[in-house]
Amino acid sequence: MTDAVVDGKLEAVKQATKYVKETENVAEKYSAMTVSKNSDMNMNVGELQSAAFTAVPTLKPIKKIQFANAEDKQEFQKYPTKAGRRSLSRSISQSSTDSYSSAASYSDSSDDETSPRDKAQANSKGSSDFCVKNVKQAEFGRREIEIAEQDMSALISLRKRAQAEKPLAGAKIVGCTHITAQTAVLIETLVALGAQCRWTACNIYSTQNEVAAALAETGVPVFAWKGESEDDFWWCIDRCVNKEGWQANMILDDGGDLTHWIYKKYPSVFKKAQGIVEESVTGVHRLYQLSKAGKLCVPAMNVNDSVTKQKFDNLYCCRESILDGLKRTTDVMFGGKQVVVCGYGEVGKGCCSALKAMGAIVCITEIDPICALQGCMDGFRVVKLNEVIRQMDIVITCTGNKNVVTREQLDRIKNGCIVCNMGHSNTEIDVASLRSPELTWERVRSQVDHVIWPDGKRVILLAEGRLLNLSCSTVPTFVLSITATTQALALIELFNAPEGRYKQDVYLLPKKMDEYVASLHMPNFDAHLTELSDEQAKYMGLNKNGPFKPNYYRY
Ligand code: NAD
Repeated sequence: MTDAVVDGKLEAVKQATKYVKETENVAEKYSAMTVSKNSDMNMNVGELQSAAFTAVPTLKPIKKIQFANAEDKQEFQKYPTKAGRRSLSRSISQSSTDSYSSAASYSDSSDDETSPRDKAQANSKGSSDFCVKNVKQAEFGRREIEIAEQDMSALISLRKRAQAEKPLAGAKIVGCTHITAQTAVLIETLVALGAQCRWTACNIYSTQNEVAAALAETGVPVFAWKGESEDDFWWCIDRCVNKEGWQANMILDDGGDLTHWIYKKYPSVFKKAQGIVEESVTGVHRLYQLSKAGKLCVPAMNVNDSVTKQKFDNLYCCRESILDGLKRTTDVMFGGKQVVVCGYGEVGKGCCSALKAMGAIVCITEIDPICALQGCMDGFRVVKLNEVIRQMDIVITCTGNKNVVTREQLDRIKNGCIVCNMGHSNTEIDVASLRSPELTWERVRSQVDHVIWPDGKRVILLAEGRLLNLSCSTVPTFVLSITATTQALALIELFNAPEGRYKQDVYLLPKKMDEYVASLHMPNFDAHLTELSDEQAKYMGLNKNGPFKPNYYRY
């Protein structure tokens, strides 16, 4: 697209914006802007940050979290931990569960063993309202963020379009997500749109220290480092929420821990809060539980089930990363290999299509006849695991269920078979049953174990049954851009919604916003959308600007 064409379209966008300004519906407003000039990513984020962010904190002695009573403390201690439970949705988040996440920092082999909590910290402007591993790594982190920006042009484009209007002016967002270069692009976008942000990590392992340093250097109060203890984790959340003279009015959560903490420790925050945006399966599940119990006291947006999350993150992210995860760990050649993929949902479909394209002979298992039929139509044989287990070279689970591969099946598997999981829980493969005295475990590489049977048979187990792609490969920044743009719009929508539009319940992002997120990503592909003629729009009963599908449409 030439600049002239882009400028012409931007003019059209301006006109559209003028119109939508008259409406109060943020969804319609931002959806009306459907063209982007994706070359302009040279913003000075630091400037935006300091303009929007005014907190100049003073150095305070670091306190341990005070629990109101022993019960509270007990409750938090039994609460599922970062190390054990998570990885919930997929997303920026899910590098989560894993201590070896590839999303994690390159630079934290630092010799400095002092806990960041015990260090006096200050950035170059003298602010000490943050706690990171080493703020001096900021320059390196800034480069990482800039690299991520290159593949997140839709989010940058949203930033550029809306920053004059500042739709988040007055928003005080407290966030708890993985702290990676991609999340940093999201945070800096929120700041550019007028928000004040305080941030903490939703996982004790996944923080990129240099990125946290870069955020702290620009003035974002960030409390996170790679390898936090459980106590550090809650301490960071507490420092993030509990700031004298500052009270959050929006929550962006990944997994529900932050929301839970606020509910327990600072319930008064909900008196002023305008909403919660949650992106993980588990966090959303908790919100629905709260809502069912009548305890949800603000509107919440379920980003996990947005089309632009579920149909992209789950499917395409896995299609891209399954091969990477397998190759990096095993150097396997796919051509001619017999593979069984358990579960033909979004993740399974992505895995199957990538493996088939590489020449693997793929079959699937399913419990649901609809997904099974889809598998048949896509050319995969639908089998029971027991029927094929002896012949398989690779077994992959992606069901979200438990005990999909049992010890009995592992006993029958052939020598050299690779076994791995792409679903969120590490219980899809009965790994616990392999920790028995007759079997020997040999760690051959990071994330690769040979489990050896008494007769010498070896099974190659990857990431101890945890999410393969998030444990052993990277996930594509572009997909994270889609999820992050959806999150940003969800925040804008909740923050700007007129009173009464959202009640104390869990909502999906309006369809128009989903469509807008997708449209922002069109220029990356030089994709040209067809516009409905008036006649066609009338015939179809549609508004020319969308939404183009009813809510029940399945894509
Ligand atoms: P989905 O519900 O679309 O698909 C799961 C499929 O598994 C369903 O079709 C279901 O019928 C089938 N299934 C359930 N139990 C089974 C069994 N015992 N045997 C065979 N099939 C069975 O869900 P999805 O979006 O594909 O996600 C699957 C899992 O992957 C979830 O746990 C999700 O959190 C996780 N996930 C992982 C990533 C990643 O990057 N690795 C990304 C998104 C989601």
